[in-house]
Amino acid sequence: MRPSLNCTLAGAIIPQIYIADLGDFFSFGVMAISFEVLGSGSKGNCYLLRTPESNILIDVGFSGRTIVLLLERHGLSIDDIHAIFITHEHNDHCNGIRGLRKLKDVIFFANEKTAETINARMCKDINWVAFENERTFRFRDLEVTAFSLPHDAVDPVGYVFSLPNCCGTPSRRKICIITDLGYAPHGLAQYASGVDWLVIEANHDLRLLELDLKRPVYIKNRIRSKYGHLSNDAALSFISKNYSTRWKKITFVHLSSDCNNPEIIRNMLRKYNFPKSLEFEIADPLANGCNREACDQNSMSITAPTGA
Ligand SMILES: [Zn+2]
Ligand SMILES: [Zn+2]
Repeated sequence: MRPSLNCTLAGAIIPQIYIADLGDFFSFGVMAISFEVLGSGSKGNCYLLRTPESNILIDVGFSGRTIVLLLERHGLSIDDIHAIFITHEHNDHCNGIRGLRKLKDVIFFANEKTAETINARMCKDINWVAFENERTFRFRDLEVTAFSLPHDAVDPVGYVFSLPNCCGTPSRRKICIITDLGYAPHGLAQYASGVDWLVIEANHDLRLLELDLKRPVYIKNRIRSKYGHLSNDAALSFISKNYSTRWKKITFVHLSSDCNNPEIIRNMLRKYNFPKSLEFEIADPLANGCNREACDQNSMSITAPTGA
């Protein structure tokens, strides 16, 4: 069954022309292609991906007003956004839909179950385009694949975005976003390892979660369950076991502000023998503003998104 309003199948749309020679994917000075954590943590999640033909948001877990402000810091108006890709229906990922749905030219992408659930909970006048998980489709100069994740939502997904070709490289650069998963299932590596930039959840430190006084036991058990959130140990274990020479950068996101902090992850990373060429970045759920702070000789940095 389809979401009841304004829904078309993603595979049916948007043949576009690709632009070559855009500069290095990681040369942010050129700003032809960029990926930014606008905010990530338990209170909200929102990412901005810009290419020559596309300005998209992945999740809108803050209010529409906050997202407008965050975009302004990046020199963008909300009217510059072409589409919003939703991972799942939890509030920290779709809170802004209510305020942003009236934007006439913005397309909301989700799979059918997620779109239906959000329709039922919020409103039915959302401009959805529904996709099928594991089926690649195009949007402007992007190729997009959504894949299933184990989490307590109706049909949660991660995304791989294949970016416009640049610098005459033989293949398109790719970025993979994986958040909100209780464990790394068999098959996840096929999406995560074939990309240049991996964005992955490192939600909690197991000890801090155990000691946490704010959360009742049933909530802690939900977080630790197979359909909860990925711990630091699980995230690093996954990266270590599935290390890919293609990776150039790994960004840790969705940190719990009570049961995690970037320092813990930085210290854990030092115990691994990752090559110096691999850059790490940690989205700080408590930091305010969007500054980047270099913090380690292993070209590690902390992004400082606005968390509320
Ligand atoms: Zn969730
Ligand atoms: Zn979440």
